[in-house]
Amino acid sequence: MCIICDGTYNGKTVINCNRCPRLTIIPNIAGLRQLNCFDCPLLTEIPNIIGLQTLAFEKCPLITKIPNIAGLRQLNCFDCPLLTEIPNIAGLHELYCTNCPLITTIPNIIGLQTLAFEKCPLITKIPNIVELRKLFGIECPLITEIPNITGLWELYCAECPLITEIPNITGLRRLFCIDCPCITEIPNIIELRELKCEECLNITTLPHIIGLRQIYCSNCPLLAAIPNIYGLHVLECSHCPKLATIPNIANMFYIECINCPLLLSIPSNVTHLHVNGCIWLKEMYKSDISVYSGRIKSLIKLQRWCRTHLRSRWARTTLNLKFSSSNFLYNMNID
Ligand SMILES: [Zn+2]
Repeated sequence: MCIICDGTYNGKTVINCNRCPRLTIIPNIAGLRQLNCFDCPLLTEIPNIIGLQTLAFEKCPLITKIPNIAGLRQLNCFDCPLLTEIPNIAGLHELYCTNCPLITTIPNIIGLQTLAFEKCPLITKIPNIVELRKLFGIECPLITEIPNITGLWELYCAECPLITEIPNITGLRRLFCIDCPCITEIPNIIELRELKCEECLNITTLPHIIGLRQIYCSNCPLLAAIPNIYGLHVLECSHCPKLATIPNIANMFYIECINCPLLLSIPSNVTHLHVNGCIWLKEMYKSDISVYSGRIKSLIKLQRWCRTHLRSRWARTTLNLKFSSSNFLYNMNID
């Protein structure tokens, strides 16, 4: 039973009704600013609550409609299989829609700053909202185009198999386009600081953007070169079978290049290096005259310290680590 069912909600400005098996209708609560409903299997109706600023509901399978609440700033709707429509709420700033399989369109909400939708398979078009600053589209099988919104800071598109092109968006700082197999090129976006284009099977080159600080391009099978960008700090380029060199960039301090079988050399000044399964590098490291040998010795010492340290930490903890980092640590030694 939740605060609504037991009738003690009067005067509350924030209400959380989580996992209530009895809740069917939310009453119109005066003064309510924030309402969160999580896992309420019988909830069918949300009223138009005057003054509500944040509305979030997740796993409410009987919800079919969201009221057009004037003044609402943030709307989250997750796992609502009967929801067919998002209202065009004037003044909404943030909209998050995840796993709403019947939604077909996102309205053109003037003033919307963050738009995120994931696993909404019937959405075909992203609205061109000029105020948008952050745009996330994940697992959108029918989306064919990203609008060119000047002023967008952050674009995240993943698993969008029909997108063929990323527009050259003026002002974009972070671009994440992951597992978009039809993209062949990353545009030369001057303001870009962070680029993640992992698992883009048809990318052959990366742009030379002076301001780029971080590049994550693992699992790009056609990528043969990393641009020589002076300010690049972080590079992850694991599992790139065509990559033969990484430019010697003075400012680079972190490289992860696991299993790049053609890789022959890496910059000499990197302090955080993760390398494993790079066949030619391994041969080079074995040689006594290798320029890398001194550094590799210290690296191995560091790895030993890491392993011992982490093993003892794991021994003390009951945490069940799902990811395979323990295997990774055991395997990362290159001698
Ligand atoms: Zn209840």
